[in-house]
This record gives sequence, structure tokens and C-alpha cells, in this order.
Amino acid sequence: MPALPPPTLVIRNIGELLTMNGERTIPSATGSVGIISEAALVARGERIIWLGPMAQLDEIAFESSETPPQIIDAGGKVVTPGLIDAHTHLVFAGDRAGEFQQRHAGASYEEIQARGGGIASTMRATRAASYGELVALARERLRSMRAHGTTTVEAKTGYGLDRESEERLLTVAVHFAAETDLPQVVPTFLGAHVVPPEFRADRAAYVRAVRDEWLPAFAGRAAFCDVFCERSAFSLDETRSILSTARRLGYHLKLHAEQLSRSGGAALAAELGATSADHLDCAGDADLDHLAAAGVVGVLLPGCSLTLNTPYPDARRLIAHGVRVALATDFNPGTCYCENLQMMVALGIAHMGLTLPEALLAVTRHAAAALALADRGTLAPGLRCDLALWDIPRHDAIGYHFGVNLVTGVVIGGRPHPPAPPVSSWEPCAPSSR
Ligand SMILES: [Zn+2]
Repeated sequence: MPALPPPTLVIRNIGELLTMNGERTIPSATGSVGIISEAALVARGERIIWLGPMAQLDEIAFESSETPPQIIDAGGKVVTPGLIDAHTHLVFAGDRAGEFQQRHAGASYEEIQARGGGIASTMRATRAASYGELVALARERLRSMRAHGTTTVEAKTGYGLDRESEERLLTVAVHFAAETDLPQVVPTFLGAHVVPPEFRADRAAYVRAVRDEWLPAFAGRAAFCDVFCERSAFSLDETRSILSTARRLGYHLKLHAEQLSRSGGAALAAELGATSADHLDCAGDADLDHLAAAGVVGVLLPGCSLTLNTPYPDARRLIAHGVRVALATDFNPGTCYCENLQMMVALGIAHMGLTLPEALLAVTRHAAAALALADRGTLAPGLRCDLALWDIPRHDAIGYHFGVNLVTGVVIGGRPHPPAPPVSSWEPCAPSSR
């Protein structure tokens, strides 16, 4: 084997390395979790160049370099791919803590809306916030997500709901591409979240604005276009009209589908070749068959069920129909104010019928598929070096020990956070003809 290029990062002494790509597998109904015990992983720049049993590391020849690599001793603990949160409403201002407490003290959503609460209150606070304020708020949330092991975050607009405000939210999401110590942000345009108050008398005009003016203007900046397809938001025909235009403009597609009622959104997602259909609480058997046949990922959001005290989506049913399942936080100020994907894994296992391997796939490999990202979610040479470093010796503590943070650090694009202490004990092997 020819010598590998000089490494920039070496992680030694990994108790269990979960590659999520099927080596040394634990079978699960939706794929397999590759596990290498007593492992090591080597990266150069943002890419993995080698991983395998620790015992083989010393046999690998690396070209020498003036600069020694950073070295992390994983202490015999678990390392997984960095977690991927495939559905968040990251960028907004204000909070709705009072509304949450009122609701659980017996107030109805209608009463809360009558007092000026609900999505309209977030819209008002978001419109009033400056670009700098929104960046600062989103940065704090991304830091919290990173602290819990998340290295890629999808971020939707949808609390601006006018041209200028939606563009500001999108620009905030795009801004984080330049901040390489934070999770990578995948921007989604969700102008069709709800019809804003000023368009209630002429919703067709709002759909035209989103479809004919904003979508073309934002093309190339947002990776995805999403629509909230629901009785209280956008009809099936409105959704089709917006997403068909988005597809022509080169957006990948997502839908909020079948959350509160059966809207036909899942079948539409399959028809249009959407990357994911999200929520799916009320999806029928035929809907799931359509999703499976079209390869659409089902993104389930158990934090909403926890917050709203409503039934959890049945992940087993999706899997039985052959739909790949991802789990996401749906981080938002109304129905899930939680940055922690580990919590969604715990809920997925305890309340949605997922096995641990399935729940882990749902926040790694399948979550990457829900964002059309082929370079992450599993670990192999050539893929991004995005990792979560866990403070547990065996991965079966995940979901079992819940409500606390089991992650001690992450690696994003080959860069550790928190930064690894300098170590100078690395002695690269001389190139050889092995
Ligand atoms: Zn959502």
C-alpha cells in the first residue's frame, strides 16, 4: 500500500468507532451500524484518510510533514459520525415560553392566539430584529447544537414572511458557511410557512409572491424549498404550484406533510421527487408506499409530540413500508425549543419503536440522505471528518442515559471543538512499499 499523505488529525484509542456504513454489522431493519472496536481514525484537512483497528495504525505508512498532526486520545470511549439535524427553524427572534406555560396550564391555542401569541408573535419579533441580532441568536443555538454532538444543521426561513425579512433570514443561514468552527448550515426557503396577516384577504397573491418573485430571487442561495402543506397553512394545489416552480429553479424539495391532518402532501412529495417528507403523523399506508417507492426520506420530529403532549409518530410503520427514517429536532420557538438530537434518539427508542441502530442511523446516514448530502453521515476514507466524541465506553448507553449531554466534543471538517491540546508524540512511519 503506498504511503498516505501526511495527516493533520489522528484520533487514537477509540473504544467503539461507529462507522454507520455496515462493516462488522449489527443488523437492523433499516440498515446496519458498522462498529470497529479499539479503533483509530486519521484525517487530512476536512477529509478522513484512514480508519481501522488501532493495532493497524502503526503499520500504516504516512508521508512525513514538518507540521505534526493534532492528536486526540479518545480514552476508550465511543466515536460516531457527527449528528445531523435535518429539520430546524434555526433563525428567529423572541421566545414563546409564556405561551408554553399557559398551554400546559389549560389555555387553548385559540385563546393564546387571541392574546397575540402563536406563530404571529414570532413573526413580529423576527421582523423587528436586525441582521446582527439574528446572527447572534442563531450562533448561540448552533453552539448549543454543537455541544450536543451536531455537526450539520438544516435551517429554514419562514418567520419573516415578507420579501425583505425572508431574505434576511436566508442571508443569516448562508452567513454560517463562513464560520467553520460551527455546524455546517444547509439553508431552506420556507416562505410558504403560513400566510401572513397582511395577505389573509388575498392568499393567492401571497402564493404568487412566493412562487413568482421570491423563489427566483433566492435560487442558488437556499439549497431546499419547503412548504407547510396543511389545512391551516397551504393547500395541496398551492403546495404543488410552489414546489414545481422551485424544482424548475434547481431547489431540492421538502414538505411539512401530514402533520395535523391527512393533506396528500406525502404523495405529492413522492410525485415531485422531494428529498424528504417531514412530520407524517397522519400519513396513510398508501402514502408510505409512495414515499418508499420514490426513495423519499421520512423525517420524524418527536420533540413536537413531547412539547404538545400529542401521540408520537410511529416509526415502525414507516420502516415496515420501506421508508428510510430520519429523526430531527424541529428546533423552533413554538413546538420544540430543544437543540439536543440525543434527546430525539431517546424519544425515538422509548416512544416510536426504533431500535438503537435505527435511531442512530436516523440522526446520521438517513439524516444526511434527508439533506441530499453524500459526503457525511457515515465514516469512510474520502468522506468529511465530522465526528461526535462521546463520554461513554459502549454505544448502548445512547438513549438509555437520557436528558443529559453524553457528548464531550465534536470534529467538524477535521477541526476539533473544543480544540485538541497540542501533543508532539506523533512519529509518522517512514514511507514504505508495503
Ligand atoms: Zn418544522
